[in-house]
Amino acid sequence: MGNIKIEENKICPKCGKTEGQNNFGFNRSGTQRCRCKECGCTYTLEPKRRAYPEEVRGLAIKEFYAGVSGRGVGKIHGMSGSNVYNWIKKNRSGVDK
Ligand SMILES: [Zn+2]
Repeated sequence: MGNIKIEENKICPKCGKTEGQNNFGFNRSGTQRCRCKECGCTYTLEPKRRAYPEEVRGLAIKEFYAGVSGRGVGKIHGMSGSNVYNWIKKNRSGVDK
């Protein structure tokens, strides 16, 4: 009884099991790797990331200033226009050149 330790947040991407997910070292970028006892696959536990990487953000802002509308930029990158406008706003208040 109570022998099974269920580690939270570990779900096998292949079979969806949460039990038997063991630590399996780390990959090059220091991300925890896990191994599923059930199906034997290994996978990395991704730390929570930002929704969009910095490059996409920079690109979106550039495109906006190049004359693309916020909605247009959103379409290019598959995000909402309001997201783009948010970045523009932040960009303006942050870096004022
Ligand atoms: Zn599995």
